[in-house]
Amino acid sequence: MEKKFINLLKKRLREASRYWPEKHKILKNSRQKIQENNAQFKNGQPKFTTKFLCNSCGKLYSALEVEVDHIEEVGSFTGDWNDYIDRLFCPMENLQVLCKECHKIKTERYNRWTRMMRLI
Ligand SMILES: [Zn+2]
Repeated sequence: MEKKFINLLKKRLREASRYWPEKHKILKNSRQKIQENNAQFKNGQPKFTTKFLCNSCGKLYSALEVEVDHIEEVGSFTGDWNDYIDRLFCPMENLQVLCKECHKIKTERYNRWTRMMRLI
């Protein structure tokens, strides 16, 4: 199969995995309702905002600042689509919520490691 076509399929599968229910479950688990500082509705009820807990740094972030990470990386396509799909659409136990910064650090570390392994 042509490399260009493989990359296209991988990209489309990754896009589809956004709707994977296990991803929504892990996001829901890390979701927290935080009372905004002194913010109140006109009727005196406190205002709440939704934040997500990063599993690495332990700080709270908005929905736009977090990503769902595969604890054990999906890795590269080894020629078996079933295997790749199983790794991409994995159970919640292999997923975690990370802030974008922690996710970037983890991904870069993984990429450095795989590059190094290729040299050995
Ligand atoms: Zn973080």
